[in-house]
Amino acid sequence: MSLSELPTDTATLRVIRAEDEHLAHNYHPLPVVVSRAEGAWVTDVEGKRYLDLLSAYSALNFGHGHPALVAAAQEQLARVTLTSRAYHSDRLGEFAFALAELCGKDLVLPMNTGAEAVETGIKVARAWGYRVKGIAPDAATIVVAHGNFHGRTTTIVGFSDDPVSHDDFGPYGGGFVHVPYGDAAAIEAAIDDNTAAVLIEPIQGEAGVIIPPEGYLRAVREICTRRGVLFIADEIQSGLGRVGTTFACDREEVVPDVYLLGKALGGGIVPVSAVVADRDVLGVIRAGEHGSTFGGNPLAAAVGTRVVEMLQTGEFQKRAAALGEHLEAKLGELVGRGVTEVRIAGLWAGIDIDPAVGTGREVAERLLARGVLAKDTHGQTLRIAPPLVIRATELDWAVEQLKLVLAG
Ligand SMILES: *Cc1c(COP(=O)(O)O)cnc(C)c1O
Repeated sequence: MSLSELPTDTATLRVIRAEDEHLAHNYHPLPVVVSRAEGAWVTDVEGKRYLDLLSAYSALNFGHGHPALVAAAQEQLARVTLTSRAYHSDRLGEFAFALAELCGKDLVLPMNTGAEAVETGIKVARAWGYRVKGIAPDAATIVVAHGNFHGRTTTIVGFSDDPVSHDDFGPYGGGFVHVPYGDAAAIEAAIDDNTAAVLIEPIQGEAGVIIPPEGYLRAVREICTRRGVLFIADEIQSGLGRVGTTFACDREEVVPDVYLLGKALGGGIVPVSAVVADRDVLGVIRAGEHGSTFGGNPLAAAVGTRVVEMLQTGEFQKRAAALGEHLEAKLGELVGRGVTEVRIAGLWAGIDIDPAVGTGREVAERLLARGVLAKDTHGQTLRIAPPLVIRATELDWAVEQLKLVLAG
């Protein structure tokens, strides 16, 4: 659906035209203007309802406006929202305690966005490399995977191999070594005395929900332990219930040295991210060496604490696992009927669209017309990450719409 195909004077078009005038074009949103949302559903400015199968790339794991999260935010709004870390607040300690416990680790370093958590993880790994491992000054390297997505800062895009993310933003910082994703032997071969860390997504999200071969995460864990290298798991999109377990690393019963968390940690209300690790790793950062004006603010801490409490019951993880199995069976029926491959982990799926049907973007636009919101990635892939509060019957309806779109 291009702008010219839309009715000429609708509330939707007026908003899109106004945005077009003054908003930088760093996104290419679907032509829908959301004005309200609840649970798994959003309503646009025309009053039309859509089932949200993207959930802000997993930042809305608990759905839009979850009452427990809204209540936590509202309560905190009326008390204090920002102190900066120049003072203590009465919320941050409890958040750190709860999150550390959820992760089975000692310490939490709170930030805001996912990219900041990744940047923090990189700084922690390098400081650990110099101060604990004894790597020569400025020689530390970090092993990363082809196809990675870790965010948009200049350091991070420097080690992305997606040309759209990477090109024309140099000069790039060094210190990163690339290996194929899913190949543990390649990691082993890439490690030398200067390697501080291996940084991977346990499942690659932006790449199209790429699930590594069974045993990969266990092998990475074993290699990192044996070679004295930190295993940093970017669980910003894969973690916090999405795949049917608290963390995607849990699928192989693996515990990384460092968790990078974000997205759903803010309950879909405020940006909250964190680096979580044991004292012997995260303890290397000294006062004044790292920080953020907003990181760990009382509002973020109040919402984050409630998110952790909700995950502690295991209810959302169970839902994701059960609904994921349900969805897997439904999506499996589409293979060979407009779909070439489906990859699914919990309630997170990458659906490769047969080019004969159209591009991922075209399918997403046709789904939009049928009241279903999903997003394409890398051309032919449709990526879905429904809120974990969605019902099985709603998923069935969405898959039925996809079936109709694929049938043309
Ligand atoms: C989204 C994402 C990030 C970046 O998070 P932002 O909050 O957008 O900065 C980093 N890593 C992974 C795996 C992500 O999916």
